[in-house]
Amino acid sequence: MLTTPEMPGLTVVSHPLVRHKLAILRDQATPTKIFKELVDEIAMLMAYEATADLPLEEFTVVTPLETTTGHRVSGKKLTLVPILRAGLGMVEGILKLVPAARVGHVGLYRDHDTLEPVDYYFKVPGDTAERDFFVLDPMLATGGSAASAVTSLKRAGAQRIRFLCLVAAPEGVRKLHAAHPDVPIFAASLDRQLNESGYILPGLGDAGDRLFGTR
Ligand code: URA
Repeated sequence: MLTTPEMPGLTVVSHPLVRHKLAILRDQATPTKIFKELVDEIAMLMAYEATADLPLEEFTVVTPLETTTGHRVSGKKLTLVPILRAGLGMVEGILKLVPAARVGHVGLYRDHDTLEPVDYYFKVPGDTAERDFFVLDPMLATGGSAASAVTSLKRAGAQRIRFLCLVAAPEGVRKLHAAHPDVPIFAASLDRQLNESGYILPGLGDAGDRLFGTR
């Protein structure tokens, strides 16, 4: 895992398998089925890293031979919050690692007049203060949706939030970190920049369209 002083708050998950899979994901020739599978696999590998500091508690395990001390993840319950719609592609992969996690949803659109993101859907489990939230969106582009989703979660009482994406633009990382410096950001890649249409370069195109075949 890599962190840099130029991008505070960001951890790039640089595992060889993640880098290998991400390169195939970027390829414009990769078909929808493979794209979906890769998003699933990369999300799972990233969740492995993003949960590395979860606290453990000891408990007693009776093996067929003797009694020993085991460890289990203690304390807070995990909740995944995909930002609709592309964030949905990351849910199943993470649930394979953390099957007991709950799933909330945030839907956002951009207001034509103010250009600010507005929630059109927001549903998370009620006991927000008891939970660790993982906000999911494959692309951290301008950072507007990410910052807005985190603001909504905090308004609902969430206290511990992490943001997981596959590809981040420097602009998005800066905006999210400036708005929410307490939210660690995990990405599989920090790309070069946004283009004038808000796409990440080199990026992978429109993640939602590629996941759901709507291109
Ligand atoms: N959303 C995407 O799906 N792709 C980008 O490059 C930027 C935002």
